[in-house]
Amino acid sequence: MITRTLLLQMAGSRQLEHFARHNRIANAMAQRFIAGETIEQITEPVRQLNKRGFTVSLDFLGESVTSEQEIAGTVDTYLRLLQNIRSNELDANVSIKLTALGMDISPELASRNLQRLLKAAAPEIFVRIDMESSAHTDATLKIFRDIFTADVPLKNTGVVIQSYLRRSAADVEELINLGARVRLCKGAYQENATVAFPTKDEVDANYVRLLRRLMEHGVYPGIATHDKKMIDAAIQIKNELDLSPDKFEFQMLYGVRRELQEQLVSDGYRMRIYTPFGDHWYPYTMRRLAEKPANLKLALTSMVRG
Ligand SMILES: Cc1cc2nc3c(=O)[nH]c(=O)nc-3n(C[C@H](O)[C@H](O)[C@H](O)COP(=O)(O)OP(=O)(O)OC[C@H]3O[C@@H](n4cnc5c(N)ncnc54)[C@H](O)[C@@H]3O)c2cc1C
Repeated sequence: MITRTLLLQMAGSRQLEHFARHNRIANAMAQRFIAGETIEQITEPVRQLNKRGFTVSLDFLGESVTSEQEIAGTVDTYLRLLQNIRSNELDANVSIKLTALGMDISPELASRNLQRLLKAAAPEIFVRIDMESSAHTDATLKIFRDIFTADVPLKNTGVVIQSYLRRSAADVEELINLGARVRLCKGAYQENATVAFPTKDEVDANYVRLLRRLMEHGVYPGIATHDKKMIDAAIQIKNELDLSPDKFEFQMLYGVRRELQEQLVSDGYRMRIYTPFGDHWYPYTMRRLAEKPANLKLALTSMVRG
């Protein structure tokens, strides 16, 4: 049987990535989750999302990069992306993975690259640092903390916390104390039970606990989920605390649960669509397939044919 675990293992395979990138069906399947390959191609889809009442977070796909040339290319793409957001007056911020900025080569390199992007994005464009596997959590939070609390801090940034990690309650308290903006998600990587809660019930219960802390004491939390139960919990907490809907935002992925996205906007909530682009779509798409068992059979068939 194809399991979430197997798909997440496949997400890390360079060989399968090579197969998939040359497979027509796999390419077609990825298009559901990816807005385009180039900055030029995504401008119109983003404008359309804005017109329908959504804000956007743009992610240039790429992770675990160890070629300095590729890292420089990523930085350059983000700089052009920031320019594009401004010149087209898009209602969009950006999301970045630190391994795409060189964290696997050296944290200092990733930190330098991030600071360069934050300066280019300041003051008005917010830069969200995505959270990757637990092997990267400490390094990611340290880079964020150092930049956010430096003598001359760069404040147009925030991080992501994953409710499947056992450590996250402590991390949330630290980020609340720093006054940092947090996106809360469940977590998308394959993790060991020593570091992550193994059952969905535990992950969901922790999500609601962390959500409550962030809505009570955090700064403009990003509530990233497609789970109606988590969304209902957020609305209940908002009502209990008598918060206005501009004190937080819901976030969902491009192409996932579109009707629910529309519904929340028409109910008066803020909704940001995480919108990836670029040609390194394989690991991202595999993680999306792992989240939706109904797509597994089709995915595997296309890989095998490839
Ligand atoms: C805006 C945003 C940013 C994110 N950033 C990160 C990050 O930085 N780091 C990280 O580890 N993870 C990130 N994630 C992914 C997240 O951790 C989860 O893996 C993912 O959102 C699925 O969890 P869920 O909350 O939607 O709940 P689940 O319990 O997984 O799903 C609830 C329901 O939503 C629907 N659904 C969920 N996913 C899909 C899908 N792919 N296709 C179709 N239907 C689906 C299904 O109907 C499912 O029953 C992000 C997610 C979002 C929405």
